[in-house]
Amino acid sequence: MGERIAVIGCGYVGSVAAGCLASIGHEVVGVERDAARLALLRSSVAPVHEPGLTELLAAGVESGRLRLTDDPAAALEFADAVFLCVGTPPGPDGRPEMGAMSDAARTIAAHLRPGHVVVTKSTVPIGTGEWLAGEVRAELARRSRDGVPVVVVSNPEFLREGSAVEDFLHPDRVVLGGNDPGAVERVAAIYEPILAGRPGEGRVPLVRTGLSTAEMTKYASNAFLATKIGFANEMSRLCDLFGTDVATVMDAVGLDRRIGGAFLEAGIGWGGSCLGKDLAALVGSARDRGYEPRLLEAAVGVNEAQRQQVVDSLAGLLAPLAHRRVAVLGLAFKPGTDDVRDSPGLDVAKRLVLLGARVVAFDPMVREADPRWGLELAGDVTSAVRGAHAVVVATAWPEFASLDAGELLRSMGGDVLFDGRNVFDPVAMRAAGFRYVSPGRAAVGDAPGAPGPFAGAFGLAAAHEH
Ligand code: NAD
Repeated sequence: MGERIAVIGCGYVGSVAAGCLASIGHEVVGVERDAARLALLRSSVAPVHEPGLTELLAAGVESGRLRLTDDPAAALEFADAVFLCVGTPPGPDGRPEMGAMSDAARTIAAHLRPGHVVVTKSTVPIGTGEWLAGEVRAELARRSRDGVPVVVVSNPEFLREGSAVEDFLHPDRVVLGGNDPGAVERVAAIYEPILAGRPGEGRVPLVRTGLSTAEMTKYASNAFLATKIGFANEMSRLCDLFGTDVATVMDAVGLDRRIGGAFLEAGIGWGGSCLGKDLAALVGSARDRGYEPRLLEAAVGVNEAQRQQVVDSLAGLLAPLAHRRVAVLGLAFKPGTDDVRDSPGLDVAKRLVLLGARVVAFDPMVREADPRWGLELAGDVTSAVRGAHAVVVATAWPEFASLDAGELLRSMGGDVLFDGRNVFDPVAMRAAGFRYVSPGRAAVGDAPGAPGPFAGAFGLAAAHEH
């Protein structure tokens, strides 16, 4: 027998959660206050580009187990568990804005009844579960309803955009934090079909812990991922200095089971709506308590430097950069999504525009450019690269990797190729006649007899290694 669930906030996380929870047998009401998003959801169209989501929402609505509304009162009346999936975007000082959480607290308090369990899925500063319970209690007191118990469970979400449905249904682990063991078990029961795992693969680990510890696991996971990429990028600088190849080094390093190969790609760094925001929040709250988290600050600094490396490198190779035509291939922060929030490619493009370059960008999923970006958006790769003095690959869309080197070079007006995602074979690209730059790959395929170690970064001159 499925549980009755309200999902408050149906953006990336909420629409996926609502669709997935309905698909495993629960009765779900999604609450969304944005009228345009709600209209899409009601016609079973995913509000964001996410593989399988539209089909999942349609199946949920068809089965009668998924309904969508803008009326929280009706949803809370119906539900026993309330999943909070509202946004916590970064504020002006980098810390998360908690306005949507505060609104949700008031809404919940207005309709809370005994038996409700509130589940926080949004990524929130450590201590938010306790704060939320306090906000709801205060609001209940104002309404002379002090007797209603407030039960909060933290259930951080680890899904990745681009594979969100798959990640929700087949997670590496589920984390549940709460101070009421009975409530934690109720939420665990909601997840049971997911916790059972795929046939033959064993159960999905369930971590039961306290409220704040669960909140910290989300920040710690993202901080580690950002640091891991930052480590590969730091090594890319050393590899360029010593004439060694970062891709080979990181592949070999990643074969160590204590390390693992994922998130060790050097390039122009991480972006997206979560890593930067969550790292800034964690760094900010550590400082509030008087601690400078040096490793995390370094991860942010290295990431920033990777973006600037593209600009510095092009400025050196094209000197001057002003009025040169640069094609930026990829604006989404990663392949498989149309999300440009904190996108490295878009950031690099804007930096080039500021220095007077004429930037023409192309992305298979990003079909509209904000005029404030100051760039031209091409309809396909061919028109983006035509006449370009330099091409920058900023997102690892598979179609960029399969570009024909000869054709690309002939259509350009120059020969500089900055491969920010390591999608090309450096040997082949250098042999084809490009001045090819990729972080940490300066030494690969260079002419024999080139200068030895310490020859300088960015592939201008380096040791040879085949
Ligand atoms: P989002 O902005 O896409 O979605 C939030 C939605 O909540 C919006 O549609 C908004 O209209 C709605 N909303 C806000 N307040 C509401 C209210 N009171 N009633 C009804 N609807 C309301 O954000 P998102 O990307 O889904 O992220 C949500 C949370 O999950 C954030 O805390 C984020 O950090 C976290 N998270 C995001 C991801 C990701 O990949 N996007 C992954 C893990 C965790």
